[in-house]
Amino acid sequence: MPELPEVEIVRRGMDRAITGKVIRIVQVNRYDLRIPVPQDFGQSVTGKIVRSLSRRGKYIIMHIGDDVVSVLHLGMSGRIRIFSPDDSYVPQKHDHIVFTMDDGTCFAFEDPRRFGMFYLASNDWEADRPFISMGVEPLEKWSGQDLFESIRNKKAAIKSVLLDQRVVAGLGNIYVCEVLFRARINPVCQAKALDIAACERIVAHSRDVLNEAIAAGGSTLKDYQHTDGSLGYFQHGFSVYDREGHKCTHESCSSEILRIVQAGRSTFYCPSCQN
Ligand SMILES: [Zn+2]
Repeated sequence: MPELPEVEIVRRGMDRAITGKVIRIVQVNRYDLRIPVPQDFGQSVTGKIVRSLSRRGKYIIMHIGDDVVSVLHLGMSGRIRIFSPDDSYVPQKHDHIVFTMDDGTCFAFEDPRRFGMFYLASNDWEADRPFISMGVEPLEKWSGQDLFESIRNKKAAIKSVLLDQRVVAGLGNIYVCEVLFRARINPVCQAKALDIAACERIVAHSRDVLNEAIAAGGSTLKDYQHTDGSLGYFQHGFSVYDREGHKCTHESCSSEILRIVQAGRSTFYCPSCQN
């Protein structure tokens, strides 16, 4: 599933391609997505300018005209493919919505597994679910003190707590594993047992890991591709994720990376460096 860096890269690709352009045609091929696409979706956005694209957690927010907000989530397998005016659009079987802009730029929302979403929200979208209860953006104002306060009563394991979108938005399984390795914190440690110094390490390493992943074009696992079809390469920089049985990357450490399952998700960690 795409995590924050991959979603941010898709947002940037869309921003470069369509911001400031007017939507000329919207073709909806399937209305029965996870949240049904309204019948008047095309009518609501056609002829309006895309003012900006923002991101909140793993959601991309399209600000259209003066009064329309459309929310996009890639789900498990969703992709955005963009075609410049010089390329011709090549339809794929699972292209559910296709936009054509006034200059001929075109983009398709493709999602074979249909866990993704593309719906109209109100102008007051931040007051609606899921945004109303969404936690802080890790790349914006977030401090060790904030984290410390938000987890001080949580008995669950820190790994699971960091995956909770109400605590911090957009960090997913891959990047939480990497952050805890860098912060040298055991993923099974109770969240409320962490001191302020540990929280500060988590916040600082989250920022570093996410920024490095964005700079590397994200991590390509299974379905994720850039809007132009190219691939990210941060997966080559993983220290622990998907490295069960490999030697720990810390030179002074001779342990092997372990995999355990927490709340149904795989956790990868070094038992020596993270205890
Ligand atoms: Zn180690």
